[in-house]
Amino acid sequence: MRKYNPKSIEQKWQDKWYKSSAFRAQNGSKKKKFYLLVEFPYPSGDGLHVGHCRSYTALDIIARKKRMDGFNVLFPMGWDAFGLPTENYAIKKKVHPSVVTKKNTDNFRQQMKSLGLSFDWSREINTTDPKYYKWTQWIFIQLFKNGLAYKDKIAINWCPSCKIGLANEEVVDGKCERCETKVEKKEKDQWMIKITNYADRLIRDLDLVDYLEKIKTQQKDWIGESHGSLVKFEVEGIEELIEVFTTRIDTIFSGTFLILSPEHNFINKYRNKIENIEEVLQYRENAKNISDIDRTNQNKEVTGVQLKGLIAKNPATNEEMPVWTADFVLDHYGTGAVFADAHDKRDFKLAKKQGIPLRTSIKPDDEELSIKVKNLEECYEGEGTLYNSMQFDGLSSADAKPKIIMWLGSKGLAQPKISYKLRDWVFSRQHYWGEPIPMIYCKNCARLPGGQGWQPVLEKDLPIELPKIKKYKPTDTGESPLSAVKKWVDVKCPKCKGEAQRETDTMPNWAGSNWYFLRYVDPKNNKELAGDKLLKYWLPVDWYNGGMEHTTLHLLYSRFIFKFLWDIGAVPKNVGSEPYQKRTSHGMVLGEGGIKMSKSKGNVINPDAVVKQYGADTLRVYEMFMGPFDQMIPWDTKGVVGCKRFIEKIYKLSSKSEFSSAEESEKLKKLLHKVIKKVSEDIELMKFNTSVSSMMEFVNEWNASENQLNKKDFSDFLKILSPFAPHLSEELWDQAGFKGFCCNQKWPKFNQKLIEEEKILLIVQINGKVRDKIESNANISQKQAENLALKSEKINKLVGDDKPKKIIFVPNKLINIVI
Ligand SMILES: [Zn+2]
Ligand SMILES: [Zn+2]
Repeated sequence: MRKYNPKSIEQKWQDKWYKSSAFRAQNGSKKKKFYLLVEFPYPSGDGLHVGHCRSYTALDIIARKKRMDGFNVLFPMGWDAFGLPTENYAIKKKVHPSVVTKKNTDNFRQQMKSLGLSFDWSREINTTDPKYYKWTQWIFIQLFKNGLAYKDKIAINWCPSCKIGLANEEVVDGKCERCETKVEKKEKDQWMIKITNYADRLIRDLDLVDYLEKIKTQQKDWIGESHGSLVKFEVEGIEELIEVFTTRIDTIFSGTFLILSPEHNFINKYRNKIENIEEVLQYRENAKNISDIDRTNQNKEVTGVQLKGLIAKNPATNEEMPVWTADFVLDHYGTGAVFADAHDKRDFKLAKKQGIPLRTSIKPDDEELSIKVKNLEECYEGEGTLYNSMQFDGLSSADAKPKIIMWLGSKGLAQPKISYKLRDWVFSRQHYWGEPIPMIYCKNCARLPGGQGWQPVLEKDLPIELPKIKKYKPTDTGESPLSAVKKWVDVKCPKCKGEAQRETDTMPNWAGSNWYFLRYVDPKNNKELAGDKLLKYWLPVDWYNGGMEHTTLHLLYSRFIFKFLWDIGAVPKNVGSEPYQKRTSHGMVLGEGGIKMSKSKGNVINPDAVVKQYGADTLRVYEMFMGPFDQMIPWDTKGVVGCKRFIEKIYKLSSKSEFSSAEESEKLKKLLHKVIKKVSEDIELMKFNTSVSSMMEFVNEWNASENQLNKKDFSDFLKILSPFAPHLSEELWDQAGFKGFCCNQKWPKFNQKLIEEEKILLIVQINGKVRDKIESNANISQKQAENLALKSEKINKLVGDDKPKKIIFVPNKLINIVI
């Protein structure tokens, strides 16, 4: 008896595949291309997670199937290797981050190979390779030259533990995404990228792509487009007007006071007009230490201070409005100012608490509620019918909005405006292990009239390599450790050749992953980030899979950068302005019992150990079988054992007898063709679990059958099995004496005739009388027959709303409904 031994099989076939470049994508091929992309990992010291294995295997199955369908498939892999964990580990262990990175990527690569993943390793990239980040730096310079990169002093999110500035996206519930320390605010000069210039296109162009609906929704919510208007408020004795962005201009007649954010520029500018400025500044100081989330928390006690001495005017009613400041108004949302009224819960609370007059002007449909609202017993925030609103009385909110904008607009006090929640992107990090920002500051050039202090490095001087230094620990002052490397910092100004200094901040870890999919197309090009001809052939990415956690970060950033590169012609026009045609996402793999895997809980499953004990094919089949691909699924060792048995059964059956003389049962043949159809369709829909279960069903039938498969059908079965269990399929293919690699064969076609269901004419009786005859598939259940009968108009009429008393069912013949 032959025994299945994955250890000897798997290594052997991996060697043969890689030696013969079986998975290499062909540049300039006449075949139709298919670019399949899976998010490249951050190579941490922990190695691959079984969650990685799940999404890589799934995409590997698609890649393998597409090759067998005749496509020229590009399925590449690389490393997103700059970032904090490596730096932190390097500091702790006193090894240089580049050494740590090399060790980790070697381990990841070896692990991936051991799973039989069909990546084209000839295109491997690494974001920390100077030959790669030369182009990351080049992109930054183009952003700068096109006015999309600028320096600004802003209050950044500061993690006191990581000692690093964080992007808004990296702050989760007011805490650092990495270490969960409470984030503080710190003023710093930062490079900013104007992603906001692309806000409308980033929303609009989602119509051009095939993304999961929830991904589109998340992107839209993140960008947060709202259509409203800009209203201008005069302030007594001050020429400058206060601008307010609002989506609720229909409530303008109830506006009784103005609220500015504590950080609002107006306060600084006119501080000598504010009688209680000390109190106001103290209030601002306190607000500094409260996170935006806490400030806008609806359940929080509202606070505020009046700006005594400032009196504004409501442009609709011409009435005087006191001006306040309150921390629930954020400076970076809208214009940092709101007009406050009885139709906003926080305004309402603040007014009640401070005795500021309130007025209502919107009547809800509910009569009882409308009385309470009118009496200021309850705050109503919804839309309704206007009153107290002069010529607009009686209009609905929706009808009134454009009319009020027009009316105030004619006096120059309002205009329509679209606003976005999306902010410009903080692009500076005060850390060592990242791409140096290729900018130089020159005092001489800054002094010239209209002078520009910041100069981009000359493109011929790229890459600006990260200097190899010994002290790369972040500093307490918030300066980048690079600022201490005087030899590196001091440099000649590229413009005037005078003495100048390099930027010492580095890029955030999203910089390298913004555009990596372009580099796979032409990974060794030294003249451009990728050649036009190859970009034209390979782009856009046909299918991109990645985590839901990257929807508002990586996915949004990389769409933006791609659009920018497309705009400046670095990417050919005819590939379209969207980088990814299709985007899907995978569910997480949890520990046994449904708890998140973590080192501290000791429930981490190491894929190496699973491969060692059961083989890579078992791991692959199990991870596809464990549940629907987009759902969170707990690990289950019993399930792994079950999948191992499935594979062993195939191995045993394949030597059941000689194929050539075998006689095959009609039933088995029919089932095989059904399974070919099922697996072909399911792979495209990422329904890997049902693919595996249909193959399991087939193998059980085969096992129970007296007969063997014929040679042709056996080869077809191996072909559909091969994306899932590629090593086993290759081994059995070879043993059966078939030529070439199994993974290079043409994907089998199913015979439609064989899978058509046998049809019968189902007789439908009511109380024993024949009332209808319906064509149906053979072998349906009583429940299916009942549903079918009730769908018939004739029967439905006769049965009506009566609940059948009794149903008599003779399979494949008749159903009798007794009423
Ligand atoms: Zn932190
Ligand atoms: Zn200069």
